[in-house]
Amino acid sequence: MKRLFGTNGVRGITNESMTSDMALALGKAIGSYFQGNIIIATDTRTSNEMLKNAVLSGLISTGCNVFDAKIAPSPALQYYVKNSDADAGVIITASHNPPEFNGIKVVDADGSELAREKESEIEEIYFNEKFKKAGWNEIGKVFDIDILDFYMEGILSLVEPEKIKEKKLKIVVDCGNGAGCYTMPYLLSQVADVITLNAQPDGNFPGRNPEPSIDNVRDLMKTVKASEADLGIAYDGDADRAIFVDENGNFIYGDKTLALVAGYKVEEKKGIVVTPVSTSSCVEEYVKSKGGEVLYTKVGAPIVARKMIEVSAVFGGEENGGLIFPEHQYCRDGGMASISVVEIIAKKERKISELIKEIPSYGMFKAKVKCAESAKIMEKLKEKISGNKFDYTDGIKAYFEEGWVLIRPSGTEPLIRIYAESSDEEKAKKIAEKYKKIIKEMGRD
Ligand code: MG
Repeated sequence: MKRLFGTNGVRGITNESMTSDMALALGKAIGSYFQGNIIIATDTRTSNEMLKNAVLSGLISTGCNVFDAKIAPSPALQYYVKNSDADAGVIITASHNPPEFNGIKVVDADGSELAREKESEIEEIYFNEKFKKAGWNEIGKVFDIDILDFYMEGILSLVEPEKIKEKKLKIVVDCGNGAGCYTMPYLLSQVADVITLNAQPDGNFPGRNPEPSIDNVRDLMKTVKASEADLGIAYDGDADRAIFVDENGNFIYGDKTLALVAGYKVEEKKGIVVTPVSTSSCVEEYVKSKGGEVLYTKVGAPIVARKMIEVSAVFGGEENGGLIFPEHQYCRDGGMASISVVEIIAKKERKISELIKEIPSYGMFKAKVKCAESAKIMEKLKEKISGNKFDYTDGIKAYFEEGWVLIRPSGTEPLIRIYAESSDEEKAKKIAEKYKKIIKEMGRD
């Protein structure tokens, strides 16, 4: 059986691997599967209208009614789907990918990313072209809706905006010309004084690349320092991930933010924090020091979210700035992450740099090795790898004196990923290089 959905929905390069024909057929397949009311939204990409209208045409041809939310962050659409009687949602976005990419992601009725089994069923309809065809008098209708206020009010209802605002914090918000332009400046204005950067929606992404990496947010780092702001925030293209900059203009890595919010949540409520095995040990150590515990999962935000539901976790997330708040919804949410970090600074009455300094610091290094037979190599590795403690949640994770290494086959590409952590990056690199060599040699046998 061929696959259409990758780890983040269907994604490709506009008019090459992601075409209007594909979008039309996928719209028909999604509509045939759900047969109900579907909410649709996009990020700010240049190909959004092309893909959205194709998907929309497919959906209504099967008799589905479509509610067009226009441009919105992914978590805004997910929140609306969860809290309305919609049967599903569709988001046209390529998240953090470069401008030439776009994608189609399907959301289930509870707002979560669609489970793999349901994706398979949609794939089967797609590849076999078993589309439902509505009669001439049963074609679906299209309605315009506005979901943004509902989303922002939902987030603000979980904090005390007036109390936070009393602290008179100044925040620089870098929307990266993405979907965050439509919510984040307004949302954050309710709790702080806001300076915006790259806040004009533009699918050419003239301000910066949509990925909020350290190299892409240098302007934000400079602006925070120059404007003597308390905090900087940057989003990816669909604003489900948020990355922060401290008051001195220093980039804060996602694992530190994850640890900060996780520590705050367990301080308040104790309980379990869920994160993938690839996350830095700084999260577990910090959470333990605050009286909570960490539960590890395989890599992938939807997997983290599902585990959180299962164990009634108080918080969860990934080291890339994707934070999941169960009191709000079970998916990554850049707006909720922003408000939470601002709330922590306000309540603790401390600088963000001081709060981050309390979190243990490690160096991480990631590498990958191309290999066609990753399953065989993973078997052989089990005997070859040394350590004091092993974790087989996702591939093999071995802990030893100097740190740990995680070796796991990629779910979508013919390669093996290596993650190593130690007291500093140089040492982590040495560990990663050692296993890279071992895997390469195994591939030659
Ligand atoms: Mg994203």
